Amino acid sequence: MNSPKVLIILFVLVFLSACQTNPFTGKKDLALISNSELFPMSFQQYDEVLSESKVIKNTKEANLVRSVGEKIARAAEQYLNAEGESGYLKDYKWEYHLIESDQINAWCMPGGKIAVYTGILPITQDEAGLAVVMGHEVAHALLNHGQRRMSQDQLTQLAGAAGSAAMGSSENAKLFNQAFGIGSQVGIALPFSRKFENQADELGLKLMAIAGYNPIAGVHLWERMSQASGGGNSSEFLSTHPSNQTRINKISSQVEDAKALARKFGVTSFK
Ligand SMILES: [Zn+2]
Repeated sequence: MNSPKVLIILFVLVFLSACQTNPFTGKKDLALISNSELFPMSFQQYDEVLSESKVIKNTKEANLVRSVGEKIARAAEQYLNAEGESGYLKDYKWEYHLIESDQINAWCMPGGKIAVYTGILPITQDEAGLAVVMGHEVAHALLNHGQRRMSQDQLTQLAGAAGSAAMGSSENAKLFNQAFGIGSQVGIALPFSRKFENQADELGLKLMAIAGYNPIAGVHLWERMSQASGGGNSSEFLSTHPSNQTRINKISSQVEDAKALARKFGVTSFK
């Protein structure tokens, strides 16, 4: 067999083995890079971001980011257990940090590494508002949106980088940052498609409701986002999360379903 044929067969094999069923969508995700390869890179990169940032500790806000994050993570576990998918999160190593920065931003790296920037706090305002944002970002991670947003080329390169001693070189780190749009400047800036945003909104509402928060806070949060995007605010988060009436109406129509779901998990009141 000549080598192009071998390559094609290899590619097909890798492709087939890389398709994993995502329990949240029931659809096959193309993942040329497996979570066991990706997560170590993600964890290393998260530590890198933290070491280069001013991480706020032991303040009321920092504690709130941690406690809301823990509740959202617990809700994801409950949800997946109920779906018979308890193994899905086995390699997740949840972490939640508040970073001092004017940026209106928040993100969750693959494997549950979350950052909230202080610049978004005036918009989240309270605990339920924070739960909307963190639920939304965790939903992007659970739905593998970062991997799915990456181009075939990036995935192939990143798979190669994973093979060569994780994040050993600055080249690999750069690749990871480009692929996931993570860095002090970009944050969650690479635009997700409208479809991915809707999926993250819907799953985020469910998670926050299971965590005991009133999903109506989602409507109020995105209304505040909408106001913040007026007045010439150039935040990447706002530009990639256009909060228009269509989005708010859609979220509004999902509030009761999210509550009904949460009640099945024993939630009796929503704060
Ligand atoms: Zn989003």
